[in-house]
Formats: sequence, structure tokens, C-alpha cells
Amino acid sequence: MSARTGRVRDFIYRTAWITGLSRLLERRARRGVTILMYHRVLPRELGDRYLHGLSVTPDVFGAQLQWLSEHARVVPVSEALETMGGRATSKGRPIVCVTFDDGYWDNAAIAAPLLDAHRMRGTFYITTGFVLRGAMLWFDRAASFWAQDPVVCAEVLAGSADRKSVRKPGSFSDWMSLLKDEPEGERVEVLRRVERVLGAAEWTDLNRPMTVGEARSLAAGGHEIGSHSVSHPILTTVDDGVLPSELRESGDELRRVLGCPIPGFCYPNGSSDQRVSAAVREAGYAYACTTKAGLNEPSTDLFALRRNHVHQNTVTKADGSHSAPSFAAVVWGLHAQVRRGARRLGIAA
Ligand SMILES: [Zn+2]
Repeated sequence: MSARTGRVRDFIYRTAWITGLSRLLERRARRGVTILMYHRVLPRELGDRYLHGLSVTPDVFGAQLQWLSEHARVVPVSEALETMGGRATSKGRPIVCVTFDDGYWDNAAIAAPLLDAHRMRGTFYITTGFVLRGAMLWFDRAASFWAQDPVVCAEVLAGSADRKSVRKPGSFSDWMSLLKDEPEGERVEVLRRVERVLGAAEWTDLNRPMTVGEARSLAAGGHEIGSHSVSHPILTTVDDGVLPSELRESGDELRRVLGCPIPGFCYPNGSSDQRVSAAVREAGYAYACTTKAGLNEPSTDLFALRRNHVHQNTVTKADGSHSAPSFAAVVWGLHAQVRRGARRLGIAA
């Protein structure tokens, strides 16, 4: 996004705020359930080094929770879904859910205490291989390899004799999207080959999970825990033989180890199709979240729930501090609409 596009966008959000459009969208949100998608709450210097870019600072997250406490009723997803289709919520405020994907250490150490301080309960989707069994997430291994030596990553991905058709990645996002396009087994193999050259990726604060004890404390504290699969594969590329174990096993293990119900599932990378969502339903989950933005209304498919992505750069002022007009635009869906409109015009917003 260029600085000019950013200024135009901020102008739209401030105008929406001043003219009352934001209030109108807030009232409209009472028709359904708004789900916010977070991944990391990290101090600025760490967040800047997190290559996946899905991070907000503790200050900004705290200010957002304060704002939500004045504009919404924040509850876990499964509780929110029970109210869907019913009458307006208490005090007539829209229902908003705060969700976290993956199970990183900062979710328990930084985000949860801030939620607790605001008497809010969030929903944490845990990747069991990562949190319960200590296996680093594949995309964090990929990020670590790329930070270490992008040339080796590019050459391994494009270089081997049977992979002539794969082009060389030119940037980190290119490297990630090419890996995501690979069939599951191929992707595992590429990363194994890179690891043979560069050595195993090291654990750091950028890629560490919460402990099992911390996950138990979240559940005991009333936060909802959901499954985010065992190994965070792109489920649409996983074959029928493996799919049930990624879905059922992760939920069963979470229930057994954490001693809490696991009502929901969250598609890794947001990737799902009819086959995957049918398998999630068969595995016994009551709902599943995607990464598509929008308001969830009574007619929304419970296995294709929408979530609005909260990203540091789209919710802050130029100095990195909380911006109420921008956060409101993200929460009430204006940001997603502006992005869709901009894409249609061929502009990155
Ligand atoms: Zn994830």
C-alpha cells in the first residue's frame, strides 16, 4: 500500500466517523455476530521482525479492547452463535468476538491478561502439534529459513530436477504463496531439503508457542478454546485419508489435555472447500471460521464464518497509536468493503 493510498483510506474512515456512517454500520452489526481475527500481540520491535505481519502492539490492543468495551459486547464465538437470530443483545450493543489463531506464547502472556483486565473472554484456536507437542509451525520454519538465506530457499524450491515448472520466489510473500500452492507432501519435502542445507530453524520469541499450562489456564479462565488442526496444513490439499486425523485428533487431544469442551474449528490459512467443511462437520464441531471478512448473519453458513482481520497498519495513526475511526472501519466491515472496491479499481488498499 502506498502512503497516498493510506492517506485516502484514512480520510474515508475519518469521514465515515464524522458523518455518522460508522454509527450506522455499528447499528447494522446488531443483526449478527462480528468476529475479529488476531494472531499476535507483540512489542513493536518484535512485531516488526515477524515476517507474516499479523501483529498488533500491546498498547494498540489494549486501546482496542477499551474501545470495544464502550461499543460492543465481547463474548466467545460459541456463545455469540447461540444469540444469532435472537433479539438485540444487552444494552443493544452489537456482539463482537475476539479470536486468536495458532497458539503463540504472546496470546497467553500478553493478550489474555489484557482481555481479563477488561473482563472479556476471547477464543483461542490452537494448533495441537505446535502447542501440545512442540513442533514448530511449518510457515515459521519457512520464515526462519528465508531470513537466514533466501537464495537457498529459492534454489531448493525451483531447482530440483522434477520441479522445473516452479518459478523462483523473489520475495518472502512470494516464497510463502508458492509454498502454500504446493501439495502437502511436496511442501513438507521442500522444507526438509532446505533444512538439510541450513540446519533446523531455531526457537525464538517470533515462533514460540504458549505452554500447555498456559493453554489450560486460558480454558480455566473462561476463554474458549478451539481447534486449528494438528499440523496447520492447507486442508484443501490434504487427501481424504489424512483429513479426519487433522480434524478429529486435534479436537480430541485438546479436550483430553485441557479438560474443556472444543466446540469450534478454524481453517488453517482460511483454506476450505465443500469437502473440507463437510469433514469438519463430521468430526463433530459445531462451527468453523474462515478468513473471509464480513458480518455473520442468521443466514450465514456456520461452517463458513467470517472474520474481520485486525492488522496494525490498518488500525493505527501514522505514529503507530490507536485510531478509533480506523479500528471502527475494520470492526464494522467498512475496511473490507473499501478494500474490495479498491481491488476492483486495481488499487492495493
Ligand atoms: Zn493459523
